[in-house]
Amino acid sequence: MILADRSISVHLPKADIILGTFQMDSQFNEFRNRSGRAPDHYFEKYRKLYWRVDEVARRSEKFIQDQGYFFLPTLDFATYKGCLPLFSAEQLRLHYGRHHRAYVDNLNKLVKGSPFDGQPLDVIIRGSFQDPEHKAIYNNAAQHYNHCFFWKSIHPWGSNIPPDLQVAIEAQYQTLDKFKSAFKQASMNFFGSGWIWFVYDSQKQVFDIRAVENAGCALNMPGVTGLLVLDAWEHAWYQDYENEKAKYVDRYFDAVDWHWAERHWKRATGQEYDEMKWL
Ligand code: FE
Repeated sequence: MILADRSISVHLPKADIILGTFQMDSQFNEFRNRSGRAPDHYFEKYRKLYWRVDEVARRSEKFIQDQGYFFLPTLDFATYKGCLPLFSAEQLRLHYGRHHRAYVDNLNKLVKGSPFDGQPLDVIIRGSFQDPEHKAIYNNAAQHYNHCFFWKSIHPWGSNIPPDLQVAIEAQYQTLDKFKSAFKQASMNFFGSGWIWFVYDSQKQVFDIRAVENAGCALNMPGVTGLLVLDAWEHAWYQDYENEKAKYVDRYFDAVDWHWAERHWKRATGQEYDEMKWL
C-alpha cells in the first residue's frame, strides 16, 4: 500500500525528447551557427544522427542556465580525440576538464549572494573589471569567457581562411604569413600568464594584436571586437610541449578556425555574414 502511494507522486517521463515540438529547421540552423561548418547537404545526416544528442545537450544547457548557473560548454569537437595537431587528448582533458571547469565552479560559488548574482557573463565581466572588491569574481568570469572563446577559435586540423577575411588581412599585413609571424612574435614577446587576442579595432578601423596579462579580456577593450584568442597560460601547453612555448605557438594556426574570426569581423564591420559562402 505504501509503495503504491509513493509511486503516484513520482513523475517519470518515458522520453526526455518530445518529438512533436522539435523544430528541425531552426534547430539545424542553431547547430550550424554553433559549429560554423555544416553545409546544407549535411541536413539529412544531422537529422538521422545528431539531432537527439544535440537536443539533449541544448536542453541540459538551457536548464542549467535557467537556474542561474554557469556551465562548462559542450565543445564542437570530440575532446577524447584532442584537437590535433595542436592538443593531445590528455592536454585537452587537463585544460578543458580541470582548469576551465575550476573557473566555472569557482565563478558559480563566488557569484552566489554577490551583487552579480543572476547577471549574464558579459555584464559580470564589465562590471567587476578593475573593482578590487570583486577581483576574484572578475578573474573567474573572464577566464570562463576567454576559455569559451578559445575553444571556438580552434578546431581539429583548422580551416581554410574565407576569402573576404584573407583579402582584408592582406590589405593590412601584406601577406597572411606576415600576420601569422606578427602574432607569433607578440606571443613569444609576452612574458607570464595571459592571452593573445587578435582583434578588430572599430575606432581606428584596423586589425590589432593585443597581449593581455592574467584574465585580460577583449570585452574590456573599448571599441574592440575579439576575433581569435590564444591561451598563453602555461597550463595550455605544458602537458604536450613541456617548456617549448615556441612549438605551441607555431602550431596554433594549424588548428585555427578562421570562420569564427570572420563572423566576428563581419559583425564588427556591419557586413552581412553568409554561413555557406565557402562552399
Ligand atoms: Fe587556459
